[in-house]
Amino acid sequence: MYKVKFYRGDYIERQRQANSDNCVAYVEQHFNSYTGTDDYSVVVTGSNASPTSKNWGRWYAAAVAREFNSHVGGDNGIKVGGYDGRGDGNLRYTKMPAILLEPLFASNPHQAELIRSESGQERLARILCESIQRFFQDGGTIGFSVGHKYKTSNPSDRGVPLVGGGLEADFAEKVLIKAKEMLEAIDAPVEERQLRVMKGGELLWSGTVDADSDVRWDPVRGVLQIEA
Ligand SMILES: [Zn+2]
Repeated sequence: MYKVKFYRGDYIERQRQANSDNCVAYVEQHFNSYTGTDDYSVVVTGSNASPTSKNWGRWYAAAVAREFNSHVGGDNGIKVGGYDGRGDGNLRYTKMPAILLEPLFASNPHQAELIRSESGQERLARILCESIQRFFQDGGTIGFSVGHKYKTSNPSDRGVPLVGGGLEADFAEKVLIKAKEMLEAIDAPVEERQLRVMKGGELLWSGTVDADSDVRWDPVRGVLQIEA
């Protein structure tokens, strides 16, 4: 039900191709960089972003913050129009909802380790995949863009260096390749309310509950209580 296409070339060219392919959603993956202690999760949207782009971006940024015990940056997780306009041109030519992901900091030693690790990449890919399932339930073609890499105007750009080694764009690409595999393996929409028990990236249990059920975690007794 999902088909993922990677777009290359200059950013405006990628967006035009996604438009002509009638993509239902468009994602560009980056990692952030500033000081060694910055650790927030943020999503850039175009200055002309639709409510769907904004809600999708906020959902993703908040999910990443919960997964990695960080917090959200920007305006409740999003930065409309980018940082002083930076990032806007990567998105605003799309005709479909589009977001630019800055989930973790390459300049933060702890987060750089997560970015380099296979399990960190899988956890990011899973959150992206879940966000697409939630916001684009009917499936369709999803456009992916690896930030910095494959630009015609600057073929050697790989983004910022990670503390401890490696370059932003190479890890961004690994996350998107994993997300493509996960998305294309989905054969049916999630129509019920799903609960899952995860250990890192590993699924231990999943089940469905009534949409009206109250679900409470009791940390003292260690019981997940589902009130029907
Ligand atoms: Zn970047």
